[in-house]
Amino acid sequence: MDTVLTAKDLRKTYHRGSEDVHAVDGVSFDAGAGELTAIIGPSGSGKTTLLNLLGCLDNPSSGSLSVGGEEIFGGKAELSEGTLTGIRRRNFGYIFQKFYLIPTLTVLENIMLPGVFYRGAGAGRTPQELLKQLGLENRAAHLPAELSGGEMQRVAIARALINAPKILLADEPTGNLDSKRAGEIEEILHTLADGGITVIMVTHNLELARTADRVIEIRDGRIHAQ
Ligand code: ADP
Ligand code: MG
Repeated sequence: MDTVLTAKDLRKTYHRGSEDVHAVDGVSFDAGAGELTAIIGPSGSGKTTLLNLLGCLDNPSSGSLSVGGEEIFGGKAELSEGTLTGIRRRNFGYIFQKFYLIPTLTVLENIMLPGVFYRGAGAGRTPQELLKQLGLENRAAHLPAELSGGEMQRVAIARALINAPKILLADEPTGNLDSKRAGEIEEILHTLADGGITVIMVTHNLELARTADRVIEIRDGRIHAQ
């Protein structure tokens, strides 16, 4: 299995007044192509901070990160914000608990939005194809407010796929959904991983975690078990 992401001794320390919070405290791991990893752990253990570091949404205090063989953090030179933006667009799709759809845009427009900013060589499928894949073909002209929570999250997944990411990062993707809808999202994530996309998801849902290829448990910013 090809390694698509390598994290070594990642740390993130926040300074809160006189207190240092070691949100991520020396995490190392590799993720392979098509591998589905679940990150679990108590609230405040550093899961979101770790996911943001892996997805280059946040800079680590120390440690290194490579994505697709490209060194992002920990190298000699600090990358510019413009370079980082390009790395994010080429490599990552992001899914969040709260969906973050734009309420005034239709389903189709929401899905097209990242593609407006970037359509690289070999870019992903068309928004219409993604709508079909996610069972949303009858919702294209609807506004987010007209959708169920499960449908909103499927729109967010379609949006995350528009630029054909190698890695999909999901922070509690089923956190706002009932168990049936959560099961649907789980199935979609598995299908995507089977198709070769690396999926790393944070979840509180142990049923969902159990179906992952690998479970990493975080406690106090460290890998407690895997
Ligand atoms: P989780 O996602 O597991 O609930 P987080 O990664 O959100 O945990 O937070 C880990 C720790 O870092 C917590 O103690 C949290 O309060 C702290 N933290 C997170 N983000 C910030 C921030 N921007 N500034 C200061 N402290 C933060
Ligand atoms: Mg979190």
